[in-house]
This record gives sequence, C-alpha cells and structure tokens, in this order.
Amino acid sequence: MAVFGGREVCGKIAGKIREVAGSIERDVRLMEVCGTHTQVVARYGIRSVLPSNVKLVSGPGCPVCVTAQRDIDCVVELALTGVKVATYGDMMRVPGSKMSLLDARAEGADVEVVCSVVDALRMCRDVKDIVFFGVGFETTAPMSAVALSRGLCVYSVHKTMPAAMKMLLSMEKVNVDGFINPGNVSAIIGASAYKDIDAAQVIAGFEPADVLASVLMLLLQIKRGERKVENEYKRVVGERGNQRALGVIDEVFEERDADWRGLGVVAGSGLGIRKRFGNCDAALRFSDVLDGVREPKLCSGCRCGEVLTGVIEPHECGLFGGKCRPESPMGACMVSGEGACGIAYRAGCF
Ligand code: SF4
Repeated sequence: MAVFGGREVCGKIAGKIREVAGSIERDVRLMEVCGTHTQVVARYGIRSVLPSNVKLVSGPGCPVCVTAQRDIDCVVELALTGVKVATYGDMMRVPGSKMSLLDARAEGADVEVVCSVVDALRMCRDVKDIVFFGVGFETTAPMSAVALSRGLCVYSVHKTMPAAMKMLLSMEKVNVDGFINPGNVSAIIGASAYKDIDAAQVIAGFEPADVLASVLMLLLQIKRGERKVENEYKRVVGERGNQRALGVIDEVFEERDADWRGLGVVAGSGLGIRKRFGNCDAALRFSDVLDGVREPKLCSGCRCGEVLTGVIEPHECGLFGGKCRPESPMGACMVSGEGACGIAYRAGCF
C-alpha cells in the first residue's frame, strides 16, 4: 500500500482499521520504533481514531534518549577537562551522573551547539582539541563518517536499528505484536535489512496517512498470522537502501557492541570507528581522561528504560509532569523533541 493523502484518505483508512481490528478478537500492541513517528502520532491525534483494542507504544528510536548515561558522562568529562565539545542541541540538557553538558558550559567548559556536523568540521580547522558528539542512527552516521574521514575527532555513539529491534523481541517484559519501522533509517539501510527480524513489520513514511496505513497493514498481517516486512514508504525506501551512504558508513565505521539506555548492551548494534581512523576516535585519543570516568548513576525514580521499550507509558512514571518536565528534565526521554515523555507532556497526556 502506498499512501500520501489528507483528511479524506485518513478517514477512509481509519474506517478500514476499525473493520479489521474488529475481526481480531484480542488486544493488539504495535510499536512505533521511531521518535519522529511518535511525534506524528501525537501531533495528529492518531491514537484517538484507533479502536480500543489497538494500542500504539513508543520504542527506542530517539537517538538522544537511548544514549547511555556513561556516554553522556564521558563527553561531560571531556568538556570539563578543557576539550571543546560540539554537539547537537538536544544532547545539551540530558542529565548526566554529575551534570549535563549545559551545566558543564555554565561552569566554563567550551561546549558549542551545532546544527550540522559540517559546522563542527569547520571549527576543527582552528581548534586543536575539539570533539564532535556523534549521535544518531544510520541516518546521521554517513555525515559523521564523511567529517571524520576529513579529520574531525568524533566520540561515536552511533547505533543501528535492526539489532535493537531483535533485542526487544527477546526481552520477556516487552509485549509487541508488530513494528512500525522508521522510514528515515530505512531510506539508508533498505527494506531488506529487516528480513531476519521475526515480527510483523511495516516501513512507514511520516505523513499521518502513512502511519495510519502502516497500522492497517500490520493489522492485516496479524489477522492472517503473517510476520513479514512490508514497505508502505516505497516513494522513498528501496529494497537495498542507499548504497552510497552505506559505503561511506562502512569505510569509516565497523560493527561493535553498544550500550543502549533501556536495552543494555546490544551485540553488533554500534558503529565504532575503524582503527585506521584512530587519530579521530575520541575514545582512543582521550582514553586517559575517559578511563577515569566513574560508574554512571541514574536518577532515582526515572523509568526511561521502560518507556524506551514500550513497557510503560510516560504518565506511568511517578516523576512525569511533577519533578520531571521539559524545563527540568530528570531523564533523557523528557529532553529531546523525539523523546516519548517530552512528546506526551507537550500533548497534555497526564
Ligand atoms: S517522566 Fe522523566 S523521569 Fe520519568 S521516565 Fe520520563 S524522562 Fe524519565
């Protein structure tokens, strides 16, 4: 199904969803893996048109949210020891064990927000010790790879999505019947990248009609007892992805295990910097500083890990809307524009 339409199209799809959901005599839980889909779901009130037996839960697709506490602490430590840190804005306010990057800047550290890795690359011509905090999935990794190959030092917490989805399925407490796969990541890795994941999946675009169509396609799979990958976003996503971007990633990065907030260490889900670019790998270049970083301490009461795995909804965290708000976040999921807690708070889901 390929959909790209407005109110009338959405209304028709919602009608079909109700029809198919009515014929499935049980509750169905679908996970929108991507934080941008979580935004679309909230902005367009998609939950309000779904029947009561179809529930959408958020997943680990916000790169800021899934960055492990230890990685935040490491970059804060680099900043406090005099290294200039360039970072995307959302990372500034994620609480670390001691402080956030914003706090570190208030204490005099040189932390600069950049809109693109290109800005950081420009800075590295004039500043000797500068580190770019490389965050994101397969969508942002190609740009980091290019900048790194041109001499920018990167602290890489880049991650890949399919391994995390497999991990979710293996977790006993996680209960999902199907995935809405991220259209942006899929544009890079291609539909074929998900074929080993044993679940009903639909790659979806970011219009409300795309999301509704993906829900309908998933319900049809579930009704028929199927577990396959379908591509609703064919206008952008191909079977094999963007070979040029994948080539750039492969030239600079290699598969490593990665620590995810909420999931723990996921084998093969990280993009580590290859040895031949070791002089641009902040983890190696500043290992003397990073080796001294203590075990991370999480905020007591924060349930980001359960939010990121769809086990609870944001309002079920005791800190939601009280101690934890966008202006005073206690956890990563309240910080980012793609974080489930921040999105739920702004949508008034109390
Ligand atoms: S409401 Fe705040 S403290 Fe609770 S899970 Fe979300 S981000 Fe963490």
